[in-house]
Amino acid sequence: MKETLQKLRHQLHQNPELSGSEKQTARRLVKFLKPLKPDVLLQKLGGYGVLAVFDSGRPGPEVLFRSDMDALPINESGGFEYVSQNHGVSHKCGHDGHSAILAGLAMYISANRPAKGRFLLLFQPAEETGMGAVSVLADPAFLPYKPDYCFALHNLPGYDQDTVIVRNGTFAAASRGIIIHLKGRTSHASEPEKDQSPTTVMAQLMANLPRLSGNGPGSGYADFVLLTLTYGSLGTPAFGTTPGDAVLMATLRAYLDKDMELLTEKAIGMVKELAEKPQITYGIDFTEEFPATTNHADAVDFVTGTAERLNMKVVKAGLPFRWSEDFAHFALRSKAALFGIGAGISHRPLHDPDYDFPDNIIPVGVSLWVAIYNKFAF
Ligand SMILES: [Zn+2]
Ligand SMILES: [Zn+2]
Repeated sequence: MKETLQKLRHQLHQNPELSGSEKQTARRLVKFLKPLKPDVLLQKLGGYGVLAVFDSGRPGPEVLFRSDMDALPINESGGFEYVSQNHGVSHKCGHDGHSAILAGLAMYISANRPAKGRFLLLFQPAEETGMGAVSVLADPAFLPYKPDYCFALHNLPGYDQDTVIVRNGTFAAASRGIIIHLKGRTSHASEPEKDQSPTTVMAQLMANLPRLSGNGPGSGYADFVLLTLTYGSLGTPAFGTTPGDAVLMATLRAYLDKDMELLTEKAIGMVKELAEKPQITYGIDFTEEFPATTNHADAVDFVTGTAERLNMKVVKAGLPFRWSEDFAHFALRSKAALFGIGAGISHRPLHDPDYDFPDNIIPVGVSLWVAIYNKFAF
């Protein structure tokens, strides 16, 4: 099984596709899954999602196992056999590995059909942009499925390879991108008194927006919040003209959804206050929105108990992770657990150009999925 899954992982790695364009990835997964004879095999779910359903036909729990399948706009330099063939795109978050692990569970279930309940193996598209989970859940083809439990894993560099990282409550932060457009009026650079430049507003926002971070006394936040500026542009590269418009982008993060709402309100309020007086027109858009991924204690207990039975080291994360995961949307509907499996203490970080999913944790992931499945299915 190990060689088969490793081969699949390398094929996916070699042919990475960006969020929302996972056409060939889906085709490869379908080709792998078909001979395993799932009772239902859905394609093009919420984009290029693939769902394999193994149904006992008898009452019992409905359990969803989810992997992601999209790659990132990061160039991969050569040097190994299965290097990315799509220039500028590569699997730098290990979603190729997560898919191979879930394919391993499909192999097991195919040979060990459930005695009760229904099991959903979801290969979800577009995780990195936060669009995939929402699209899958909104797809009419997914409507008949109402999982009692949902599970997802993510490899985590910085932890030993035999480690499972769990957390009750928030596992990964909520986040959203904010795009602030400022519009004034240009003038000749020799007559700045005649312009209506957004320069001052832009500078004030750059200095003050990040100060909305932190949850000290009087801040109104219940937990950690963070605002990070990510992009800014002002006017055009010219000496003769004052700027007429500006764009500023930032990422908002919070461990709790209600804190995200408060942080968002404060950011909007600041733009309004600073832009209105000098009569700078403004527009605000939001993008790549992720709720906080909130784990359910029952689902986390399943993962923890299973990992301990498998003699794996269980680490209870003290704080939630600051990154976000669109698995959050499943956690809003079902008892859910997102957890980490260690990718190695000194493994390159996620999204690093030199990151590659460590093949030797494929069997670790498969054994966890199999043990959780066995608990529900027999
Ligand atoms: Zn990622
Ligand atoms: Zn990822």
